[in-house]
Amino acid sequence: MGQSMDRLIRAAAGQERPFSAQLELTYRCNWRCVFCYNPRHFDREGMALADWERVFDDLRDLGTMNLTLTGGEPLEHPEFFEIAEAARRRHFAIRIYTNGSLIDEALAARIAALYPFTVEMSLHGATPETHDKATCRPGSQAAMLRGLDALQGLGVTVVLKTPVTSINEHELGAMIAMVGQAFTAYERQIRKWRSFTTGCSTASRKTACRIFSVTRSARNFPA
Ligand code: SF4
Repeated sequence: MGQSMDRLIRAAAGQERPFSAQLELTYRCNWRCVFCYNPRHFDREGMALADWERVFDDLRDLGTMNLTLTGGEPLEHPEFFEIAEAARRRHFAIRIYTNGSLIDEALAARIAALYPFTVEMSLHGATPETHDKATCRPGSQAAMLRGLDALQGLGVTVVLKTPVTSINEHELGAMIAMVGQAFTAYERQIRKWRSFTTGCSTASRKTACRIFSVTRSARNFPA
């Protein structure tokens, strides 16, 4: 899968075609992460479905194949599912970047029905306290893990990431262990683990690189 994807990306580059587009559906978000680059969480309306459909048609004409639906928190867009379905009707592969906290079983089923390429979310700490300190929302870790479980239970490919910061770097090892345990239960549904470093020490950065180097995709697992 990785090689096929690389070939597609190289072909698109050779044809000067935008292979992927990252679309910020809304600036709204129910979290307030300390490192968030988006300071506008509620003061603007997102574009409506009809506007996004025009964007999708333009991107399709340009030869784009892959869309990342993000925000803010994209599930906060009142027409998120209509927009995502419009993208799938045009045969785009979609990734969804979400904080995961709004995903209950009913929403997970609607997301699974979109057949997303991946759903990507972040773990901000091994303990609820550290997680909440990063997101500024009490109960954020439990909410994210509920969303993760609901998606995994339906076989959706979930990619976990950790923005490593001075708030959570001391829990990096514990987070790795935690993710290992959580995903062991799901065996072949284990997903990639990626890490980004933000304002953390050199030692953590090295650890993050090591984590990155052991990432695995479910699609690469033997049957
Ligand atoms: S979940 Fe994402 S959009 Fe929301 S506050 Fe955190 S970083 Fe910002």
